[in-house]
Amino acid sequence: MAELKLSESRDLTRIERIGAHSHIRGLGLDSSLEPRAVSEGMVGQTSARKAAGVILQMIRDGKIAGRAVLLAGQPGTGKTAIAMGMAKSLGLETPFAMIAGSELFSLEMSKTEALTQAFRKAIGVRIKEETEVIEGEVVEVQIDRPAVAGAASKSGKLTLKTTEMETVYDLGAKMIEALGKEKVTSGDVIAIDKASGKITKLGRSFSRSRDFDAMGPQVKFVQCPDGELQKRKEVVHCVTLHEIDVINSRTQGFLALFTGDTGEIRAEVREQIDTKVAEWREEGKAEIVPGVLFIDEVHMLDIECFSFLNRALENEMAPILVVATNRGITNIRGTNYKSPHGIPIDLLDRLLIISTQPYTEEEIRKILDIRCQEEDVEMAEGAKQLLTKIGVETSLRYAIHLIIAAALACQKRKGKVVELEDINRVYHLFLDVKRSTQYLMEYQNQYMFNETGEGEDDDV
Ligand code: ATP
Repeated sequence: MAELKLSESRDLTRIERIGAHSHIRGLGLDSSLEPRAVSEGMVGQTSARKAAGVILQMIRDGKIAGRAVLLAGQPGTGKTAIAMGMAKSLGLETPFAMIAGSELFSLEMSKTEALTQAFRKAIGVRIKEETEVIEGEVVEVQIDRPAVAGAASKSGKLTLKTTEMETVYDLGAKMIEALGKEKVTSGDVIAIDKASGKITKLGRSFSRSRDFDAMGPQVKFVQCPDGELQKRKEVVHCVTLHEIDVINSRTQGFLALFTGDTGEIRAEVREQIDTKVAEWREEGKAEIVPGVLFIDEVHMLDIECFSFLNRALENEMAPILVVATNRGITNIRGTNYKSPHGIPIDLLDRLLIISTQPYTEEEIRKILDIRCQEEDVEMAEGAKQLLTKIGVETSLRYAIHLIIAAALACQKRKGKVVELEDINRVYHLFLDVKRSTQYLMEYQNQYMFNETGEGEDDDV
């Protein structure tokens, strides 16, 4: 039975494309936020995962709007993986937006507009709408004298209008009874418990039209099945502020949502939307759901972007900002100043910093195991050992990349299981950074613009 379930879920994952982080399904924590050694595709990096879990809990409790977290660590230590794990654990209702710092400079819009859009993609609005029809039968009843509804006595004249006469006759007596006790006016929605005859006013109908008045005051009756009074149904829509912006910024706005071709959105449009949302919040019709905005390669931002972030975090609707970098002390873009991670000290001071650590051999082995499963590659024990060794000596990323390349080499020789020879083959076909650098050191004279000054060729 257990095997059957496994193969079923595998089939489902096949539908998705395999990406660098597709094996990550969460942070792999238990209910007390303790990291499990290997869980939900996550291996090791326990203290960073635990810290991310605490942040997640704070997000769920709605405690840290406008806070920011920095994931700092060497390349390939799982910073992006942890951010993806957070996103997966948040659930569908909490918006998660992700951009890389470099994207801000390649979009056809100003950096601050791109950042604003990213922020608003990470702010959700939960809109509650009450539907007027509840489960059960709806019967419309017309009262012929406008002012009498409240005063109608048991003998009040009532014209009942419905297609289901039987039911209406049934209700008629109860309605007269109700009108005697409670003031019922045009547009009221009432539920009648068929068994006990108990009447409850549920609220006002939202769909009052002009014809409605012309027809005379109406009372909608809802007859509930099984003598149970039903509550009014609430329909909840979750959208992001960015989606509302886009839909309202042009006539074919909703199409832009699919193409991503949103262009710059005017400040007035956003102001109007913010005012409207504030109104809905006051009326209790909407709630703000601060989500998570993840900015990878945050060192690529420049000083203008950093000031923007500082200010944007002050907003009461701000999402939780998670940024990641693998840089040490480096230049803040747009200035001549150096700072840790290339982030200005005032922003750095606001960040909760989570650091990631290099992996042990055992952890690399487990991550490679998970990736083999994810990429549907069967690998012999010896080949796995060699690949792990390569991972330790070069980098985890390089070793991960060799998996599918080795599988292709194996396929070419019509093999089914990746063996040592396949790993060997691709290891020599594709260089890792160390060997590529070594090669360059040996042959740099033959490249353009080499900076050693040796053997410079004036003809170039
Ligand atoms: P960079 O600084 O270069 O952006 P990074 O720290 O963001 O690197 P990732 O891209 O998250 O590193 O990790 C490299 C690869 O290893 C990814 O495929 C990632 O999913 C995987 N990986 C990293 N850490 C883990 C982990 N703890 N468990 C499982 N997979 C991991």
